[in-house]
Amino acid sequence: MNYFPVFFDLAGQKVLVVGAGAVALRKVALLERCGASITVVAPHVHPDIEQRAAAGKIELFPREFLPSDLDGARLVIVATARRAINRWIAKLSDSRDIPVNVVDDREASRFIVPAIVDRDPVLVAVSTGGTSPVLARRLRERLEALVPAKIGEFAGWLQALRRPARRRLRSTDARRKFFEQLVDGPAAARFVAGDTQGARRVAHQLLAAAEVGPSAAGEVTLVGAGPGDPELLTLKALRALQDADLILHDRLVPQAILDLARRDAERICVGKAPGSVGSSQSEINSLLVEHALLGKRVVRLKGGDPFIFGRGGEELEALARARISFSVVPGVTAAAGCAAYAGIPLTHRDHAHSVTFVTGQTGDDREPDWRALARPGATVVFYMGLARLSHIAGKLIEHGAAPSLPAGIIASGTQQNQRVITATLSSISDACTRAKVESPALLIVGEVVSLHASLAWFNNEPQHEAAQTA
Ligand code: SAH
Repeated sequence: MNYFPVFFDLAGQKVLVVGAGAVALRKVALLERCGASITVVAPHVHPDIEQRAAAGKIELFPREFLPSDLDGARLVIVATARRAINRWIAKLSDSRDIPVNVVDDREASRFIVPAIVDRDPVLVAVSTGGTSPVLARRLRERLEALVPAKIGEFAGWLQALRRPARRRLRSTDARRKFFEQLVDGPAAARFVAGDTQGARRVAHQLLAAAEVGPSAAGEVTLVGAGPGDPELLTLKALRALQDADLILHDRLVPQAILDLARRDAERICVGKAPGSVGSSQSEINSLLVEHALLGKRVVRLKGGDPFIFGRGGEELEALARARISFSVVPGVTAAAGCAAYAGIPLTHRDHAHSVTFVTGQTGDDREPDWRALARPGATVVFYMGLARLSHIAGKLIEHGAAPSLPAGIIASGTQQNQRVITATLSSISDACTRAKVESPALLIVGEVVSLHASLAWFNNEPQHEAAQTA
């Protein structure tokens, strides 16, 4: 390791900044936030720095650097455009044992400045040892996306909880466990998700439970995994996966998404293949309850969005009955994902003013309101419709839809093997049989489907054969 990482308390300490251009300004702004007492020396001064000096926030000497400027400085940052001068000042500082950084000159610097993710008071610093500022920035950007926006507030909340924890929990061990449960468990998840009330409630429950003895409070997070492309996961979904002890997932959730979960998380597939027997809904419900009661952080991972033909509601009802706390992370539903990746806008001012999501499989003999679905000027999306394609098309035509109305099937939407078959209502069923389409597949009916011909962009291999034979 070439550098020793530290965080420097500069409150009230003199920091000398030599140079007063845009780069110096950025350093000054950062130093200001740390409460440093800033002195800037430079003959040419950025107006923002001038303003700060006029407001009495910093001390400004609009002239060339003098060695006496170093007097009393705790830290020096050099950012003039003249390399030789920079190096001379660096040498001087070093000889006087004052740590110095020359911007963009690692060799001349005694310390270097990391790329930071600032979630005050939480600070993540990234350094590549000066080898590649671009790499450091990229890493920082990825961390930026990963570190919850509210982590700083969360740290503040944890600090505020220290006093009540000290009052109510005698042993340091009990306190450590309490804070571990807060940080690792649903309280943290709720807090960073913006549900402060929920987090408080969990914290109080934990504190009360810790007072009477060791126990754990599990929680279930119902997570939408989206239609398949792992990049369509939300940041919250990713976080839930990385926090989970146990993941109960549907068969449809691709391996690439499961691979994003915490390495040692247990994974159970509870999905049903169409037509086969998987776990029954009541078995899934009791698995959820059972594992949560053991104190685990359970993620119930579902394809698409959990509340759209996902039985998410039924599972939450079971959890509510068992008084297990839960939260829900929405996902990109198949209709939104498939339509986007197929270049089929679900609404369009010229073609459709509404969109309806319907299940092609009601499970009993109840039929949808075909007359309403067959109305012109609207888009209808059928989930789970592949097996009953000819029935659906027939019913729509019977209730007034034009046989020539564009219809499209998107199979394995958003995934590498996505296929889009477009035809008309009267020909879509035959076209799909010919193309040997396999599930999961989504049926979209409406004029908007015709836009696929010009708006397709993903894995774009035009398949107009079906449309032509229509
Ligand atoms: N909750 C899910 C839907 C579950 S029902 C969601 O919001 O998307 C399962 C049906 O969704 C499948 O039969 C199929 O019609 C559709 N589906 C899910 N993923 C799909 C995909 N990647 N491509 C096409 N259809 C998909």
